[in-house]
Amino acid sequence: MKASQYLIPTTKDDPQDAVVASHKLMMRAGLVRKSGAGLYHYLPLGLKILKKIESIIREEMDSSGALEFQLPILTPSDLWKESGRWDKMGKEMFRLKDRHDNENCLGPTHEESFCSLMKPMLRSYKDLPINVYQIHTKFRDEIRPRFGVIRSREFTMKDAYSFHLDDASLEETYQLMRQTYRKIFQRMGLTTIPVQADSGNMGGSASEEFMVVSPIGEETLMLCDACGYNGNIEKTPLVINSEKDAENGTYSQGVEVSTPNAKSIEDVAKLLNVDTHDCIKALALVVDGIPNIVFIPGDRELNEAKFKNATSANESRPMGNAELEKYNLIAGFIGADQTFHKDIRVWKDASLSHSKKYVTGYNKVDFHIQDYVGGDKWSDMETADLVMTRRGDACPNCGKPMDEEKGIEVGHIFQLGKKYAESFDIKVLDDKGKPQVLTMGCYGIGVNRCMATVIEQCNDDKGIYWPISIAPFEICMVSIAKAPEDIARIEGIYNSLKSKGFDILWDNRDMGPGFKFKDAELIGYPIRLTLGKGFLEKGEISIMNRKSGEEILHDFKDEESLSQVISGIRERLYEELKQ
Ligand code: ATP
Ligand code: MG
Repeated sequence: MKASQYLIPTTKDDPQDAVVASHKLMMRAGLVRKSGAGLYHYLPLGLKILKKIESIIREEMDSSGALEFQLPILTPSDLWKESGRWDKMGKEMFRLKDRHDNENCLGPTHEESFCSLMKPMLRSYKDLPINVYQIHTKFRDEIRPRFGVIRSREFTMKDAYSFHLDDASLEETYQLMRQTYRKIFQRMGLTTIPVQADSGNMGGSASEEFMVVSPIGEETLMLCDACGYNGNIEKTPLVINSEKDAENGTYSQGVEVSTPNAKSIEDVAKLLNVDTHDCIKALALVVDGIPNIVFIPGDRELNEAKFKNATSANESRPMGNAELEKYNLIAGFIGADQTFHKDIRVWKDASLSHSKKYVTGYNKVDFHIQDYVGGDKWSDMETADLVMTRRGDACPNCGKPMDEEKGIEVGHIFQLGKKYAESFDIKVLDDKGKPQVLTMGCYGIGVNRCMATVIEQCNDDKGIYWPISIAPFEICMVSIAKAPEDIARIEGIYNSLKSKGFDILWDNRDMGPGFKFKDAELIGYPIRLTLGKGFLEKGEISIMNRKSGEEILHDFKDEESLSQVISGIRERLYEELKQ
């Protein structure tokens, strides 16, 4: 491709609304342009990268035996009513009516569509297992689209769904997808870690997210160096030291203490000269319309995902003032010893000790109770692991202290179980001729998010350095020549490299060398050839590695030897991805 006939709309300045490196660089390098909130146009350079990522995913999915489909983006509400998700999905699901007043949505995911499509085609156990996928547009009306294409409203997802007669077969495909994902991410130069993930209300059993460790990640990962346990914080259990946190103890009502102006747990702890861990934090929440009080240690945060699992809730929110008043609760002073309205569900985090002395609220403004011991009085409360773990907590697998990192989720694999097969009544005849409900898995990868995440991992002060496998062009040839005969000679070399199959962009634009070099560095082609003064005077071609900055000076003799040198470099760059 000749740059003079291409579109390379690079810009010098960072866009105003961009806060992360990938968003800034994608805009500056002319890969995308913003169309609206969470909506992006892909320009030729950006689209080329996206297509290369899609090709890697397609090749690996195909070689795993999965079959590619393409389904409509617009999906009728009937399908979603059948699974019960029409009412559950909330505002992320973009709903719209057609001219006949039929309700539809833009598919945020396609379990329902694939289930209804596959059902009549699956008749016998001989049709199983089968793994079906597409690489197609999804729409989610995200409340806060941000970080450019990392969280956009319209995006491309590879979504796959597998159908099985039994759990063993599901497990086999799940493991195959796990390996396939590793290959996919490795081929695109992304370092990912699979972490144990929360299955939420999807009803499944096993679930892993493929995470890229990054300070801009919205997920928190708990990692254990010692044994290799990796978990999303939403899922990671808090290990309780049973000796210290014994479940039996003798109740003691403690003593009333005045805590004027102490607004937070920290204030109370400071005033009474105790640790926040020795205080009980109370949270008043409304869960699917039902009032709940949750007691957790003062130095911990509530883990929403664990709480939702414990309560089988869809939605949970803090209690409003009217509700607090209705239930005779005083915000900031709710205590573990008070008697609650009969409608309230009372919860206690499993790590609160029945035998330990705590500070708790007194249901009276500016007063707390000190030296309170729950003892057997706490046995009425519902108990569950409800809190966030943190750096230093014991690994649930080996007990060694865990590390904590931020991560970006690029892929997700999931054992769905029978939930959808039951809703859609998908059955096949087993080998004895008996109808059996199927079990399913689903497997997603965010294509655009992968592209941005690679940039998060592969950038420096000059711009992007693409892994060769997904670079917009593998080679950029920068020429600095004015005389027509020189340009003709360089064009001959370009044509020869192109005919040998190299993915090459010739920057033949009528611009200065500084400008062209800056563009090449910003866009991040892995190999840069420079045919400038050195070439015109001595036949010297500079071959530069964008990532390492290494430069080789090649004495040009003929196209064949030049192409061999470039092939060698290209192969090495592909080899690097395998390490
Ligand atoms: P998140 O927690 O980030 O919202 P999710 O868990 O809802 O993602 P899945 O339903 O598991 O996402 O979708 C599969 C993949 O699609 C994700 O791993 C991610 O790479 C990608 N993805 C999800 N939402 C978006 C989005 N708004 N923009 C870009 N990619 C997305
Ligand atoms: Mg997910």
